[in-house]
Amino acid sequence: MTRLGIIGGGQLARMMAQAASGLDITTTVLDPNADACAGQVAELIQAEYNDHRGLDELAGRSDVMTFDFENVPADSLRQLSERCRICPGADILAIAQDRLLEKNMFRELDIAVGDFYAVNNRPDLLAALEQTGYPAVLKTRRFGYDGKGQQVLRQPEDLEYAWRKLEGHDLILEQFIPFDWECSIIGVHNDAGETRCYPLTRNHHTNGILAYSHAPIPQLNASLQATAQEYLQRIAGRFNYVGVLALELFVVDGRLLANEIAPRVHNSGHWTIDGTVCSQFENHVRACCGLELGSTDTVGESLMLNWIGKVPDPESFRHIEGLHWHDYAKAARTGRKVGHATLTANQPEIFSRGVQQLSALHGGRTLLDWLSA
Ligand code: AMP
Repeated sequence: MTRLGIIGGGQLARMMAQAASGLDITTTVLDPNADACAGQVAELIQAEYNDHRGLDELAGRSDVMTFDFENVPADSLRQLSERCRICPGADILAIAQDRLLEKNMFRELDIAVGDFYAVNNRPDLLAALEQTGYPAVLKTRRFGYDGKGQQVLRQPEDLEYAWRKLEGHDLILEQFIPFDWECSIIGVHNDAGETRCYPLTRNHHTNGILAYSHAPIPQLNASLQATAQEYLQRIAGRFNYVGVLALELFVVDGRLLANEIAPRVHNSGHWTIDGTVCSQFENHVRACCGLELGSTDTVGESLMLNWIGKVPDPESFRHIEGLHWHDYAKAARTGRKVGHATLTANQPEIFSRGVQQLSALHGGRTLLDWLSA
């Protein structure tokens, strides 16, 4: 029997372990927190991510290892890869950890991206702003997630505050992209070089955190799907990638511009659990364990809502046909992703009725307007 090891024990690890169990694969997770939510469905090794003893123990208990978040030290992963297969590899992880390397990679692979400049000091910032003009987005190169570690500079008066907030970090200044909408492409790539992509997913963020995902996008221009897939394949091919890869993109005037990658399963792919034949979690486990990839075909139209801070009372949602409830069993905390729900229906009437019912309980007008835009 194959044993899967996951560095990180959050909800992504939890959903990977659940998918693994359906394939009769056992999972061990490593996480510093005794109450890590994946620990309820998998064996837990409680250790810091850079604790060599803990990592060694995980490697000893695993035939293949993966991770559920980006900030695993890439060097720890490199060392571990000498004794255990790790998917995906440390090279792409190191790139995903640094926004500058990531954007340089996009350019190198001829993937369209907005203008960006490295900022190591204040004169760099002023020179970069000369190029981008206002608005622009100043971001830390490392350890940013869910909109953390970034400041939008809308006018020259914003510069002092943004600089004070982020000074001392290696930074990047990005041109502000006046995007029409945001999307992501999620695909799985295996040892044999086969890629399977899910349909492009349209995403809406609130305060930098993913709020809603919708897929497949009705009346999507097929060339957007093809371009997004081509971009994902280029990255996966370049790194002999194994596992699920996510690429977040902006759509501006009908064109795609890359924002960032996640070398792992991704929040905007949670709908695939209920909305496709084989979810991103199962496909990630399949690729890591050298199993045949599963179908990425959809079984209907899906809308995923993230539960942020606290999970609402499921009782009030039970009447909604096609709604699938996912509670990560995490303690409530402001800004924390604690669960999600996916509405999936293969008949338009059921989908639109579900959307009306859902929006009456969560999201309201904002959700309806976003879906119809
Ligand atoms: P990130 O952490 O880079 O994914 O940023 C989180 C969110 O901030 C994105 O999903 C966008 O909504 C917004 N954002 C980030 N970078 C830019 C940019 N250069 N221009 C416009 N919006 C941005």
